[in-house]
Amino acid sequence: MGPPGAGKGTQADVLAERLGVPAISTGDIFRAQVADGTALGQQAKGYLDAGEYVPDSVTNAMIRERLCADDTRAGFLLDGYPRTLDQVAVLDEFLAGQQRFVDGVVVLEVHADELVARLLHRAAQAHRSDDTEPVIRRRLTVYAEQTQPLIEVYASRGLVTTIDGNGETHEVSQRVLTMAVSLQQQA
Ligand code: ADP
Repeated sequence: MGPPGAGKGTQADVLAERLGVPAISTGDIFRAQVADGTALGQQAKGYLDAGEYVPDSVTNAMIRERLCADDTRAGFLLDGYPRTLDQVAVLDEFLAGQQRFVDGVVVLEVHADELVARLLHRAAQAHRSDDTEPVIRRRLTVYAEQTQPLIEVYASRGLVTTIDGNGETHEVSQRVLTMAVSLQQQA
């Protein structure tokens, strides 16, 4: 977990490779569906472009289906899900029904000014439709209002590890991998 620009996608890929599990990014799935012009993509596009969350019913159904795939049997890493309290409840119920559970939540913390600088830099390079300044501002607000409270929910379950997400990508990866090794040693 972490705000837009925290580096979730980048670090999720590094960690998932280290753990040998798939990294499942709701943002990537939505963008791929939009690019392919699928029905789901058409439903999601307006929300993505505005920096708003796609409705829970749509997102929950998509993730449920993804988590039924065989490649998640040995574990999985979620990037960008859950993002609302409703999504937490749905994920809990879905996993409990399969005797699976969330065994850790990694929170990436990055200074606000660095977040905006990173997102504007990505805007100049990747041409994501939601990386314009007003939409970036909206995404940061939506995160603070709807997603940040989830950290407390998972913290109260003793699941949260906070990582300093400031600095170079490889420095953050080093911190993430060190954390993963120490969690595995405790397990
Ligand atoms: P970022 O975290 O930088 O905003 P993401 O790629 O994770 O980028 O998400 C991009 C967009 O995809 C979000 O602004 C939202 O519209 C949609 N999205 C991603 N995950 C979710 C989710 N769990 N629930 C609702 N919408 C989502």
